[in-house]
Amino acid sequence: MRGRKARLRDSARQRVDILLTNSVDYAHRDIIIASRQAEIARRICLKYNLRLPYEQRRLFCRGCKKLIVPGINSRIRIHNHPKSLLTTCIRCGHISRKIF
Ligand SMILES: [Zn+2]
Repeated sequence: MRGRKARLRDSARQRVDILLTNSVDYAHRDIIIASRQAEIARRICLKYNLRLPYEQRRLFCRGCKKLIVPGINSRIRIHNHPKSLLTTCIRCGHISRKIF
């Protein structure tokens, strides 16, 4: 039996999925509207205590918590030693590192 809370979280997760898909799509046209959608998605996550998969988590800067989209407001570099992905937020300059 799944409780009411689990169902609420499922629908919250679906909304977050839609919001983030839209915002990445929209980022190329209007980063401000896209950021607003991402901000709503982030608030839903906080409210329902959702953990996003890496693919979605990396859309947010760890520094300023805003939407970052490669090629628009973030820069991606690949390093070989150790094999890692560096994402620089152009807004606040925060660098996050993902080691493979
Ligand atoms: Zn930032």
